[in-house]
Amino acid sequence: MTEENGARQLSEAEGGPTVDGSHGGGAPAAPELTGLSPLLTADEPDTAEAALGLTGRPWPDLPEPSPLDVHGPATIVAVCNQKGGVGKTTTTINLGAALAELDRRVLLVDFDPQGSLSVGLGINPHTLELSIYNLLLGRDTGIDEVITQTGVPGLDILPSNIDLSAAEVQLVSEVAREQTLLRVLEKVRDRYDLILIDCAPSLGLLTINALTAAESVIMPLECEFFALRGIVLLTDTIAKVQDRLNPKLKILGILGTMYDGRTLHSREVLERVVQAFGDTVFHSVIRRTVKFPETTVAGEPITTYASASAGAESYRFLAREVLARCRVG
Ligand code: ADP
Ligand code: MG
Repeated sequence: MTEENGARQLSEAEGGPTVDGSHGGGAPAAPELTGLSPLLTADEPDTAEAALGLTGRPWPDLPEPSPLDVHGPATIVAVCNQKGGVGKTTTTINLGAALAELDRRVLLVDFDPQGSLSVGLGINPHTLELSIYNLLLGRDTGIDEVITQTGVPGLDILPSNIDLSAAEVQLVSEVAREQTLLRVLEKVRDRYDLILIDCAPSLGLLTINALTAAESVIMPLECEFFALRGIVLLTDTIAKVQDRLNPKLKILGILGTMYDGRTLHSREVLERVVQAFGDTVFHSVIRRTVKFPETTVAGEPITTYASASAGAESYRFLAREVLARCRVG
């Protein structure tokens, strides 16, 4: 997206689709992005922050997730933001692992040709014989040939690799091309409680497939300048998918990522996001820490790599928020 385009999208946000997907009045005005303070301020722990949470709201009293006797049918959630490097893959892996810790059966779908989700769970995309690509476009690959177990009990993955980039082009000539991923996932929906789709950093046909298959969307948003502009473009795309392909699609939540408490800047961005999107913003906020890149090298989630870390705890809390939000609606 160009800056110009972004600015236009931003000014159109008023009166555009609301974050819960309905149209018309009452949409939050896009926040003013200029004039944010530059980096560098206090490093001191903020006690008010601890009581209220980083989003400035009191921590919610979430119900204890109930044990499940029966599994499925899965709620399908797309983790989506057309910007790269905002924490989509990191969120998919660690939210998935945290949900699996709560005895949910979880399938992760690597829907980015870069295969980062697969790498992050210890799978080498270059040596894959079968991947999600074969399920989308091959007629004779069974889904069980592609589903791979991870080191985390209850957490499975449909891996991908660079082959998937060809699907973006080849799908164009398919009948009902936007529903291709949904048709694949329907086959295993009854076995899982949640299916999380890690989207590619684009709003192309693959991402449209993910948004058509999903019931809801999680939008990771880095606590950085201009991050909000991308969210406006994404909500616009979501509104189009709702209108034309998937009326039940809703936004499950916006997740602040890469939060750096040492900068006033990060806090201000988060404040603006909460002003603009209110309770759509998850209470969980993921802080910036080198532990996340380390987990990629280790090929495992932070919940096992550094189980007691703040990062693992944040994703555990997010898992409870996600379960609570999925239940209501
Ligand atoms: P995306 O999937 O949106 O492109 P990733 O999840 O791959 O983003 O994250 C991009 C890079 O940032 C990766 O190297 C990842 O390890 C790192 N990263 C993700 N979340 C955090 C975080 N909270 N703190 C520090 N680094 C992070
Ligand atoms: Mg990614």
